[in-house]
Amino acid sequence: MKKPEAPKEPYKSTKKTPQLLRGMRDTLPKDDKYWRAVYGKAQELADAYGFGRIDTPILEEASLFTRAVGRQTDIVEKEMYVFEDKDGEKISLRPEATASVVRAYIQHGMLNLPQPVKLWYWGPMFRHDRPQAGRFRQFTQAGYEIIGDDSPVADAQVILVAYKFYTELGLPVNVQLNSIGTAEDRTRYKVELVNYYRANRSKLCDNCKVRLVKNPMRLLDCKEEGCQPIKENAPRILEFLAEESRKHFMSLLEYLDELSIPYFLNHTLVRGLDYYTKTVFEIWPEPFTPKAEPVAPVDAGPGAVLSVSGAVADETPIVIKEKEPKEAEEAKMPAQVALCGGGRYDLLVEELGGRPTPACGVAPGIERAVQQLRMRQLAVPEINKHELFVAQLGELAKRKALVLFEMLRLEKIPAAEAFSKGSLKFQLEAANEKKIPYALIIGQKEVIDKTVIIRDMDSGIQETVDFQKVVSAVKRKIGRE
Ligand code: AMP
Repeated sequence: MKKPEAPKEPYKSTKKTPQLLRGMRDTLPKDDKYWRAVYGKAQELADAYGFGRIDTPILEEASLFTRAVGRQTDIVEKEMYVFEDKDGEKISLRPEATASVVRAYIQHGMLNLPQPVKLWYWGPMFRHDRPQAGRFRQFTQAGYEIIGDDSPVADAQVILVAYKFYTELGLPVNVQLNSIGTAEDRTRYKVELVNYYRANRSKLCDNCKVRLVKNPMRLLDCKEEGCQPIKENAPRILEFLAEESRKHFMSLLEYLDELSIPYFLNHTLVRGLDYYTKTVFEIWPEPFTPKAEPVAPVDAGPGAVLSVSGAVADETPIVIKEKEPKEAEEAKMPAQVALCGGGRYDLLVEELGGRPTPACGVAPGIERAVQQLRMRQLAVPEINKHELFVAQLGELAKRKALVLFEMLRLEKIPAAEAFSKGSLKFQLEAANEKKIPYALIIGQKEVIDKTVIIRDMDSGIQETVDFQKVVSAVKRKIGRE
């Protein structure tokens, strides 16, 4: 049995360590397997469905988002990181990437390519939101956009890609679906909605009183308890859709039925960005009851605040006490937190100065996908699954071991090492701990004989092989030949 290492004496420094900013997080090596699995799936689906990769800058003119996302949206009004650069230009850290992708589509003349143009991206987004479980100030989104197709089959494919993204990672999810029609449909609908809400004004929360004047569609987004019955009985936009929007929506439902994608019609789903038209959707995780045993923790970030209900949590937060176990944070993750959001944005290309071009897309949030995988303890492929351990004893042996390690790497045989350690006992214990089946040992004798010992870590049986033949010998042992 390996003796546990003696705890290190606490080091007292007079210097203060700079702290992580609120709402920001580090992704550590222990999380890497989840990120790789999720990225791998995002890329695999992009390739399968014919989406070309696009990367746009993190910094854009602030007006891009003001115009695309909408001046009176939470994202632009409250959450956007905006600053003046040294030339006095108003710059923004992108809060989302659809606007950037559309800008690039116009600037690179992609409307002259065969349509539709299908693009996908992956990268960091920034919103100065109140940090909560699953809500960060820097977070990662993947995105799939189909630009130049007005057919509902494009909406269906975008939903299909997002649905497969989660289900093929093993996450049980459901699709929440609505249509918010065209701008004309909404104008008709808003009159009814405002009349209805005005009649109930005295029962509304303060936020909704503001929304009633500034952005009535967002009334349907309210998570306040008191507003729920009013919201439930509000006029439903599907009943206000003109023939064309209705046909588009019905046709989308038929495609989803054909693809056996389960969906729920959600008449209160309106989404927080102005550019949506017709189809809007979110994908939610199925409810999850944590097991009694501890689950892999997820860091909610420094100074994180939890909300107990609702995805768009404007309600009174509960501050996590510093020592609260991390598992509890996940258990409190609201079930209805959206894993991704998307929809059709037929007016956006035109709004940003391009020829009128219909489009639709989706943006899965990656931290939330990783969080779900960990919380549900779903298996993802292990990375660095070492098949060999290269051990050495003595200075000359260390030199040969370095060369051997390179020989293995060139053959793509994953090997572990502890070159900074001198004790053979320590190295073999490390190999055992990592459940590595074979150790390759070079000591002083092996250096002189130009040999390597192959040790079966399970049985302890050792054999000595010629240095030049060791790679092919281990290849046979680990079934690579
Ligand atoms: P949206 O761009 O607001 O439609 O968001 C799409 C998805 O991005 C959401 O469903 C989340 O998964 C993710 N997301 C949005 N905002 C945040 C945030 N502040 N922190 C973490 N993930 C986020």
